[in-house]
Amino acid sequence: MRQKSKNKRIAIIGAGLGGLCLAQGLKKNGIDCVIFEKDSAINTRSQGYRIRINGPGREALKECLPEHLYTLFLDTCAASYNGMNVWTTNLEPSPNKLVDSWSDGVKDMPDLKPNRLTLREILLQGLQEQISFGKELTGWKEPGTGETELSFADGSLYTADLVVAADGVHSKIGKEYCKDVKINTGNITIYGRTFYTYNTRKDIALELQQGTSVILHNRFSLIVDSMVFDYSKRNQFRNILSPVSDYFYWAFIGNPQAFGVAPADFYNLSTEEIFSCIHKATQHWHPKLKTLFEYADKPSLSMTPIRSSLPKEKWNSGNITALGDAVHTMSPAGGMGANTAFIDAGLLAANLSKALLNNTIISTAISDYEEKMRVYSNEAVEISLQGGEILHGNHKKQN
Ligand SMILES: Cc1cc2nc3c(=O)[nH]c(=O)nc-3n(C[C@H](O)[C@H](O)[C@H](O)COP(=O)(O)OP(=O)(O)OC[C@H]3O[C@@H](n4cnc5c(N)ncnc54)[C@H](O)[C@@H]3O)c2cc1C
Repeated sequence: MRQKSKNKRIAIIGAGLGGLCLAQGLKKNGIDCVIFEKDSAINTRSQGYRIRINGPGREALKECLPEHLYTLFLDTCAASYNGMNVWTTNLEPSPNKLVDSWSDGVKDMPDLKPNRLTLREILLQGLQEQISFGKELTGWKEPGTGETELSFADGSLYTADLVVAADGVHSKIGKEYCKDVKINTGNITIYGRTFYTYNTRKDIALELQQGTSVILHNRFSLIVDSMVFDYSKRNQFRNILSPVSDYFYWAFIGNPQAFGVAPADFYNLSTEEIFSCIHKATQHWHPKLKTLFEYADKPSLSMTPIRSSLPKEKWNSGNITALGDAVHTMSPAGGMGANTAFIDAGLLAANLSKALLNNTIISTAISDYEEKMRVYSNEAVEISLQGGEILHGNHKKQN
């Protein structure tokens, strides 16, 4: 297809989920762009394991991806089940309320559960020549010509007509240009995985071996997702997808003090020390639930503070914009961060494509995107905070 953007240099900062989805959406409309990614390769850093994709996120992916990649995404997701189980720590059904934005059992189709690296590898297909790895954006200048001069940590420069910051939670453009203010909620998430083996199948409760389970506790909760893949479909794409094997994804979300640690001290703990906190906090839990951590894949353990953007006000639109966590960070409790990044990517790709096709003013396309994005992302941040209230509220009475 003819490249319609031959006179427009579009630079995307960050080859994460949102940035790659935007690049795919532009490519589908015949629009060229370049992507600058700080990491040296797609798989140099763990960014989590499973990710829940809801209806609107799925629609946005469908809009942006070519059909064969969207089909590959569907074929490589872990098995989904209708219904999400809420348990007490003793593995008895809990009467507690679920997080509304999780659509298992609520809508016609349950959330999809791709392995995060697999999804990123799918999003990367066909874009390899457009990505420069090892390029950390350090600054930008607008010399008044309508262009933006980007500078990178390695000393290199790039001049763009349009810049989209998709560089995640620490984005400088998100903070300084789009005036995004992120606060630390004081809560954390600790997550990891436990592989399916003969022993884990035998010793982990059967209830946890299908679908999604939520265990609500006092000031923190645990989410467990069984990630069981259909290898017959996946194996045909061995050359482009890194191998995976079935696993339990688990994530605690809540107040660090519930693990017996002051928030400031948490980040100095070793993996062993964190596991020891987990063992202590779950010592009275059902034995077939605790085994999840006894058999855990130790190197998979990660921890991150939960940040949340304040409601966004309008800023002056120009030839720089942002999407995803760069401009709206939200608690993972709602399972909406990546989904909202995909919605951004879909909308921005559609607006830019229309403007470039019809030769209309690009800044109008951007301001229309920003206007809409501020509304739905403010809502998503709020829903995610409410999800957090459910997950790290006080459930002692119900339990
Ligand atoms: C434990 C956990 C579970 C989650 N589960 C879900 C879920 O189930 N569903 C959901 O919708 N969301 C979930 N989220 C949120 C989701 O992960 C994020 O919202 C999503 O990754 C945001 O995508 P992004 O493209 O904006 O940013 P990212 O995916 O963070 O990508 C940013 C990219 O920019 C690069 N970068 C950073 N700085 C620079 C720089 N200066 N120059 C160049 N490149 C740079 C990074 O290396 C990275 O590749 C979860 C988050 C966590 C922590």
